[in-house]
Amino acid sequence: MKSIYNYTLEDLERYFLSIDEKKFKAVQVFDWLYRKRVQSFDEMSNIKKQVLDRLNSDFKIDTLEIIDHKSDTDVHKFLFKLNDNEKVEAVLMNHDYGNSLCVSSQVGCNMGCSFCESGRLKKVRNLETSEMVLQYLLVEQVLNLKISHVVLMGIGEPFDNYDNVMSFIDILNTGKGIDLGARHITVSTCGIVPKIKEFTEFGKQVNLAISLHAPNDELRNKLMKINKVYPIEEVMKAVKEYIKKTNRRVTFEYILLSGVNDTDKCALELVNLLKGMNCYVNLIPYNETSHIDYKKSSSENIMKFYDILKKNNIGVTIRREFGSKVNAACGQLRSKYEEVK
Ligand code: SAH
Repeated sequence: MKSIYNYTLEDLERYFLSIDEKKFKAVQVFDWLYRKRVQSFDEMSNIKKQVLDRLNSDFKIDTLEIIDHKSDTDVHKFLFKLNDNEKVEAVLMNHDYGNSLCVSSQVGCNMGCSFCESGRLKKVRNLETSEMVLQYLLVEQVLNLKISHVVLMGIGEPFDNYDNVMSFIDILNTGKGIDLGARHITVSTCGIVPKIKEFTEFGKQVNLAISLHAPNDELRNKLMKINKVYPIEEVMKAVKEYIKKTNRRVTFEYILLSGVNDTDKCALELVNLLKGMNCYVNLIPYNETSHIDYKKSSSENIMKFYDILKKNNIGVTIRREFGSKVNAACGQLRSKYEEVK
């Protein structure tokens, strides 16, 4: 039986029409699921018995088990067990502007970035839309708070699970349900060019972030094997087209790895690459992990890199560090758990 959380409002409208019911029932169901947050169809008191029976036989209202929850100041890390016993993580960060949830989109990841813990354990499968929706619903429920921002920066490559991720965004964004503004949602990709092109036509004001991490192909090939398929020039072309069509500013993520991509030369090359583009760079202090040899850049080098971008009129921020005590770096909790076991 399919989880009801897989269905966008439009999917449910189609469903109701297919069983000769008014499509407005979809709005009622969304209201019960995402506003009143009921856990069973029988609580949907404005829907008649006959339709409830039908819903009960066609869908399930499922949940995920939280098997680990660690907190530190301003950060909560959750490990979820899926119905087939696979595990994924989500991280809630309290910012001064609100609560941001970092959601996983796959079990493991096949992109194989050399610095990333998630890719060390290969992709097992895509997450269903419902498994992303439930990360959101359960974190709000357990912490009793409102999530104001969602970033698809957990385990997985969102553009390698494109359709389910887009349905997830649609459900978050639906006014009759969770009603999270598109501008409060960010999708991060390692640069899968055909999907950047598809996303350009998606038509919602969702933020796009590109994991760049290097200013030239030679270096990026070493850090991110996806670059051999979609080199920087192609990524840039697709991103420029995205900016032109959507008029939206793009974020480039750039992890700073000591002695690898944090030199003045790299900073200047990055300036040249991004000059004149409607974008900004988010510098990410590397979160070290025990299996991978890269070291985090010193604060001094991070500031130097920052200053070079700034001086050359590239918008730049440094990502605030959360949760190294709770293994909040991408994929670390899952990976740790798989080892202990
Ligand atoms: N696959 C997508 C989204 C998931 S990763 C992507 O590549 O963008 C989200 C971000 O975290 C990416 O920019 C990724 O490169 C970065 N990241 C991965 N491992 C990290 C680590 N150990 N420390 C800091 N950032 C990391």
